[in-house]
Amino acid sequence: HWVRILEALQKKVNRQSYDTWFKPTRFSHINGKTLYVRIPSTEFQHVGDRYENLIMEAIDNLGLEVEKVLFVTPQEDPSLPKVREDGGFAPQPDRSLTNARNNNARQSTNLPEQSRFDWNTAAQLNPRYVFDGFVIGSGNQFAHAAALAVAERPSKAYNPLFLYGGVGMGKTHLMQAIGHEVKRRNPHAAISYVSGEKFTNEMINSVRYDKMTSFRDKYRNVDVLLIDDIQFLAGKERTQEEFFHTFNALHESMKQIVIASDRPPKELADFEDRLRSRFEWGLIADIQPPDLETKVAILQKKAESEHTPLPTDVALFIASNVRTNVRELEGALVRLIAWCSLHGVEITLPTAQQCLKQFIDTQVRKITIEAIQRAVAEQFGMRVAELKQKNNSRQIVVPRQIAMYLAKQMTEASLPEIGRQFGGKHHTTVMHSIAKIDEQRRTDKDLNRTINKLMETLN
Ligand code: ADP
Ligand code: MG
Repeated sequence: HWVRILEALQKKVNRQSYDTWFKPTRFSHINGKTLYVRIPSTEFQHVGDRYENLIMEAIDNLGLEVEKVLFVTPQEDPSLPKVREDGGFAPQPDRSLTNARNNNARQSTNLPEQSRFDWNTAAQLNPRYVFDGFVIGSGNQFAHAAALAVAERPSKAYNPLFLYGGVGMGKTHLMQAIGHEVKRRNPHAAISYVSGEKFTNEMINSVRYDKMTSFRDKYRNVDVLLIDDIQFLAGKERTQEEFFHTFNALHESMKQIVIASDRPPKELADFEDRLRSRFEWGLIADIQPPDLETKVAILQKKAESEHTPLPTDVALFIASNVRTNVRELEGALVRLIAWCSLHGVEITLPTAQQCLKQFIDTQVRKITIEAIQRAVAEQFGMRVAELKQKNNSRQIVVPRQIAMYLAKQMTEASLPEIGRQFGGKHHTTVMHSIAKIDEQRRTDKDLNRTINKLMETLN
């Protein structure tokens, strides 16, 4: 199970984080619907917090019978006979012999509270994503105020609330904070958080297995619907249609809808107009990248929550060297804390410079569309110029779509910009190409392998 989950995660998590936090993990065992994953040390326990959504999504997408994931250090792992002093992995036990016995032993094993991570409750809302943990700065002030207003007066302040902004800007955090706050004020409130991707997959499955009624009931009988990354619905007509009716049902019965997107409604290409116009019924709030002060404040807040003192010069160093993405900012800090604790050194400017050197370097070395085109052309034994020609033979179309897909995934270029670099394609063509590869990649193993290989080469 864990290997398959890791495979899925590798595509979603940036390579640095994957190598640091996932590579060293190992499948331990399964007990009922609980999956035990072994981690080298307690520093890895935050993996559960940070990546819970991705992990749960992967589990859902793979259709695994897992409801809970527990991260255990070798010391806590009941399936290990003996633990090495240095905290490294002890040798694998002989499973065929130990499993039955361990099943009993496990019941009575008391894992420390900290490592117990209940994915059942966490699958919906991340306990960390509360208003209290959100740092307000000039870029997110407006969105924060709007979110708070909605949490205080659901369906009466703004309905829907449409949040948009770039990756790692805090959209998910803010929208889940609404959920937490509504729940805090009214414990009976039914709150549903779902990503556009999950909504789509659930809908497809409901159609396939004739379970449309229960799907509809699920999303039309809530007090607050938080739908994240709505841009995923682009080009998916049937899902949009279904969401349109969900939206109407909720709106008519005065239920709150909160939508998060990576772009404003107007720029949601391949969306039905009636849906786009509904997104504009309430309030649209954007989140802009944090300025330096806000980045420093976010780092300090985060360090505080980890009970780790963070000198100001170190915070400034990280804030000014890491790009605007808050997720990467946090990643750098988490890495630094783990690194210093593993090496038993204090967090100072020199240690930070040493530890984060590679992290920062990889950010500077940006991947360009030209590099992607070269790699794809080489992979398919063609010339770069061919990728840009007006030629719609299959031998050219597929590599071109793959290259566009990679350009979207690996660079910050906009759709029109990508179109320009591929011989002047319209941005909707680019979007279609990307969606197509995105979709095919899920089922076509060969294609998936090719893409992974290309990504690896480029990285
Ligand atoms: P998005 O959904 O916009 O991609 P997330 O909400 O997932 O971004 O945020 C990425 C990470 O950055 C999360 O761990 C979140 O808690 C953190 N984060 C983003 N903005 C802030 C903020 N203003 N204050 C504190 N943490 C933040
Ligand atoms: Mg998000």
